[in-house]
Amino acid sequence: MDNYHRKRILITGGAGFLGSHLSERLLKEGNEILCLDNFFTGTKENIAHLMDDHNFELIRHDVEFPIHLEVDEIYNLACPASPPHYQHNPIHTNKTSVLGAINMLGLAKRNNAKIMQASTSEVYGDPHVHPQTEDYWGNVNPIGIRSCYDEGKRCAETLFFDYHRQHNLKIKVARIFNTYGPNMHPNDGRVVSNFILQALRGEDITIYGDGSQSRSFCYVDELIDGFIRLMASGDDFTGPVNLGNPVEFTIKELAEKVIEMTNSKSKLTLKPLPQDDPKQRQPDITLAKKELSWEPKIKLEEGLKSTIKYFEKFL
Ligand code: NAD
Ligand code: UDP
Repeated sequence: MDNYHRKRILITGGAGFLGSHLSERLLKEGNEILCLDNFFTGTKENIAHLMDDHNFELIRHDVEFPIHLEVDEIYNLACPASPPHYQHNPIHTNKTSVLGAINMLGLAKRNNAKIMQASTSEVYGDPHVHPQTEDYWGNVNPIGIRSCYDEGKRCAETLFFDYHRQHNLKIKVARIFNTYGPNMHPNDGRVVSNFILQALRGEDITIYGDGSQSRSFCYVDELIDGFIRLMASGDDFTGPVNLGNPVEFTIKELAEKVIEMTNSKSKLTLKPLPQDDPKQRQPDITLAKKELSWEPKIKLEEGLKSTIKYFEKFL
């Protein structure tokens, strides 16, 4: 692709789990990538293999603060995603979501760029509607320990739609459900990385609560495909759109699957359930199927295989 037609794409949180996969994919497709990160949960190792590509540029920056760049598209992913990380400094988490959205929307407005927000199934909170559809407004505690993330992401969605209505900005909002795969931080604290590492090390598998709560797990490559389809969709399609794999598992089922696949001798141990931990979560993806022709096909066993292989290097 020549320089004139090459798109310059900004990925905030580009050194994180999802951001590093998105950077790699968009770079392969012939784009110029500006990867912006403050390295709170992201790592240089995640993007080390991209550094020699002259179409890849790394910017250390915190999205809480404005930045001036020339870009055609923005994927706004910057925000810690695992509960232990986003609860570590809740005020910063909220500022990252809200001020980060304001700064990136301002940047998009100046550039007349299209912008996608990495929103989350957490906007549904502990849902009373199951599976969750995009028209459900959610059941979110505004003052709990998860609120810095949930309410920050909800406010970011509000800002996206206000910029769209007030300034005609081209926006896309993806509500991402639990996603897993290589490049997850080993100390991330999320369930898939925790269980795999515990199983590989022969340590007890820590089930919070009785393990009957459910989640639906999407393999990273398929989620990234959803992002790209969403960004490429017509300007009149803003979302919000659920992106996730609708096949639901209990946390106990996940633990048993990981033990089986790693041939581990680990035992299950029960720990207290964290406050406001959602009891069930499953995306209704009718809208993504219709508007983006997107539907995940990779089964949990298949995705876990490559994820387990990735975590073996941390032993
Ligand atoms: P991650 O923690 O691996 O990546 C987040 C990245 O953002 C990291 O590289 C981190 O250093 C960077 N970051 C954090 N605060 C920043 C700031 N103030 N300025 C600049 N960079 C900052 O998490 P992830 O799983 O890759 O998640 C990416 C996005 O997707 C997040 O916005 C998250 O809320 C959203 N999301 C992810 C999932 C999932 O299952 N992975 C589910 C729902 C939503
Ligand atoms: N969980 C667990 N053991 C762990 C980590 C998480 O039982 O070591 C549970 C957690 O309580 C939640 C589910 O697994 O019910 C998913 O947790 P995660 O932090 O991955 O993401 P969430 O969907 O809660 O944001």
